[in-house]
Amino acid sequence: MQFIDLNAQLTRIRPQVDQAIARVLNHGKFISGPEVSELEKKLAEFTGVKHCISCANGTDALSLSLAALNLGPGDVIFTTAFSFFATAEVVPATGASVFFVDIDPLTYNLCPASLERAIKQVEAEAKLTPKAVIAVDLFGLPANYPVISQLCQTYQLRLIEDAAQGFGGAIGQQRSGGFGDIATTSFFPAKPLGCLGDGGAIFTNDDALAEVCRSLRIHGQGTDKYDNVRIGQNSRLDTIQAAILLEKLAIFEDELVSRQRVAQRYLMRLNDVVTCPIVPDGYYSAWAQFTIRVPASRRQEIMQMLSVQDIPSMVYYAKPLHLQTALLGSLQVDCTEAEIASESVLSLPMHPYLTDNEIDGICQAVIQTVAKSGQQV
Ligand SMILES: *Cc1c(COP(=O)(O)O)cnc(C)c1O
Repeated sequence: MQFIDLNAQLTRIRPQVDQAIARVLNHGKFISGPEVSELEKKLAEFTGVKHCISCANGTDALSLSLAALNLGPGDVIFTTAFSFFATAEVVPATGASVFFVDIDPLTYNLCPASLERAIKQVEAEAKLTPKAVIAVDLFGLPANYPVISQLCQTYQLRLIEDAAQGFGGAIGQQRSGGFGDIATTSFFPAKPLGCLGDGGAIFTNDDALAEVCRSLRIHGQGTDKYDNVRIGQNSRLDTIQAAILLEKLAIFEDELVSRQRVAQRYLMRLNDVVTCPIVPDGYYSAWAQFTIRVPASRRQEIMQMLSVQDIPSMVYYAKPLHLQTALLGSLQVDCTEAEIASESVLSLPMHPYLTDNEIDGICQAVIQTVAKSGQQV
């Protein structure tokens, strides 16, 4: 069994993808071809956000956003201690300081109370200036934006939504990509909306920010190709990847429904047996992952027992960001919940093409594994 079965999806749309690639080979506009702007328009429509600026990957989407917001030395950027490394990796390069905040143990997302403690700590020390927050839609679930945006308003912070995992999720009518001043996503193959290589995008309703991002992704371009008005990067989405993404976007709504089906079935079978993910009222998860909790002392053994039955499982993330070697010594408040989560989380296979039978088999194995170890998880 595959943890994420990308082949099942590709098989479904293989003729469309082949034709899309062939169209690009025929017109030959490999950089900034017509598919790129068509995709940006469709992604903006999908998220309900005014501007979509595609770029080379989700990490660049974050660093371009920080550059567009003019963040740099003396500034503090707050973020969750529990995410993929890229979320925090982009901060030191700007010269700004990263400040790690704890998570809400129920949603795994940034804890607003911990964020406020962190902001107050920086204000009290009066050496650095609190400037921005990067909130992450971990495992597909949007962060607590109603409260986080309020805090950002109170303390005059810019809000960046890292929706690399959350694309397709929503709070009420607003889809991920539409929270904060600017949002980023990734089209890495394993993300909810993935291409067949690297890709990423930025979303914003702010005309000025959008214009700066468009310039930054192409060497700080000014009025024409050889006019450079700022130091930028080379970070474009390949036309071939845009063409592939257009075909994947066409089935994305249907895949989200299927992810929801898979999650509901997991919940129905496992909710009484193990600690399952929680989706607050009014929230919709893109179900990038289905992550349960198991006792830290037995996680390895449980993974092993599942693996013997051909059921892959993964740990996202075994080490919280404030304990990563490259980030040791960063600013932080107490991040105990992130540390506990990193020791107890276990992600089960999750993709839109899991059959009910396969899900039942996985659940059966999880339940047996828990029973065998003679202890309620
Ligand atoms: C995958 C991911 C990124 C980085 O995306 P890439 O396209 O791989 O650069 C950033 N943040 C989070 C939360 C991610 O999961």
